[in-house]
Formats: sequence, C-alpha cells, structure tokens
Amino acid sequence: MDIKTFILPLTLIVLFVYETAAPFYHFNVNRFRHGIVNIGAGFLSFLLATVFFYYLVMSALAIDKGFSSLIPSDVFKLIFAVILFDLWMYIWHRMNHEISFFWRFHKAHHSDTAMDVTTGLRFHPVELILSTGIRLPIYMLLGINVYIIAIYEILSGVVIFFHHSNISLKQKLDDVLSFVIPTPRMHRVHHSHFVKETNSNYGTLFSFWDRIFGTFNSRSDIENIKIGLENYRTDYDQTFTGFLKTPFN
Ligand SMILES: [Zn+2]
Repeated sequence: MDIKTFILPLTLIVLFVYETAAPFYHFNVNRFRHGIVNIGAGFLSFLLATVFFYYLVMSALAIDKGFSSLIPSDVFKLIFAVILFDLWMYIWHRMNHEISFFWRFHKAHHSDTAMDVTTGLRFHPVELILSTGIRLPIYMLLGINVYIIAIYEILSGVVIFFHHSNISLKQKLDDVLSFVIPTPRMHRVHHSHFVKETNSNYGTLFSFWDRIFGTFNSRSDIENIKIGLENYRTDYDQTFTGFLKTPFN
C-alpha cells in the first residue's frame, strides 16, 4: 500500500467523524446516502480517467524535463514545481467556471446542497477526463515527475478534503490559515448559490492565488449561505443518476 492510498482515506474518515460530531451546517440529509453518491462519483471518475490516460500520464511524467529540471537542488525543484502546478490548478478551476463548456461538467460538483468532506470527491467523469488530458502538456512543460505529482496529490488531497468539510473551526484559526490554504469558510463562499460568490475563491492547495489575482471573497455571515446551485436542488439532482445527468440538464 503506498502512502497516498493510506493518508487520503484516513483524512476522509477523520474529517467525516469530526464533522459528524461538530457540524457547522445542520443539513437535513442522510449523511451515509449522501456520502455514498459522492464517493461513488469520485471512484467512477478516477477509474475512467485512469483507464483513458494511464499510459499517457506515466509517459509524460517519465520525461522529467521542462522548467523545473533547470533547478539543480531536488528540494527547490519540488517546491517550484508544486507551486507552479498549483497555479495551473487555479487557472484550470477558474476556466471551469468562466468557460461554459467546462462549467457544464463542473456544475455537477457544485450541485451538492449538503457540502461535506465527501464533496471533495464529487467530480463528474467528463471533468476528470478533461482535466487529466489537459494536464499532460503541463506535466511536460513544468517538468513534473512521478514523485512530484505524488507529493502534490497528497498535499492537495488533504487540503481539498479539509476545505470541503462541514467542520466547525474557530474563525481566528480559519482566518490565519486562509492566507496559505483555502479554508472551509473560504470554500463555503465558493459553493454559495449566488453566482458572484461561486465565481471566487478558486484555490486548490494554496489560497494566495485568489488574493494575487483578485478573486478572493469573504463573507462574515457564512452561516446564512445557501449551498448548491439554484436549478439543481431536487431530491433527484442529489442522486447518483441525477449527478451524472447534471451536465445535460
Ligand atoms: Zn468550483
């Protein structure tokens, strides 16, 4: 068992228990049924993206040239590549909101009306296939190798679970953390049903991109945020079939 397959499920379980014990929002849903839809979505998307791209991804990672190979120190190369790859993730996430073709699939992630840690896995298979394919030239350009991507995926996976989670966190701690990583308060604004709020706070691993590029958005009354999308709030939209059909409705 590699470290990623250990750390990520453990993070999911710990945050699931925490948000069950001390939830921020009190959603009126069956948490297990809700969680199974999202975990099923993540599993299906990951499986399809792997089937489509495994050999191409491995080939792109094996090249290990690109910008970061100009850096002689392995540690600085890692830091440089992780930061620049996260900048790509900021751009990609923003494209998913600002380009209607990509939004069609990304909205299946936003249609969850009871966001919790499992929402961090709720990505439509087409979105994951597109994002995996479009990463290939980015890997080659930045010189991302198999070790760098493994570290990025562990760090970003933990942070993605954290900022989707429905935990109660002291506001001061959340505010301090939000200068480095996207926090639950920041990400709840991103999952608001107001389009102006949804189109903000795009950070994946690091939150400073939002402050640098002017997309940082905060709100003092996050307890009043209506999570989800206006047109996808029925019980059917929250089922696995409803989730899969969201891009086409
Ligand atoms: Zn989004």
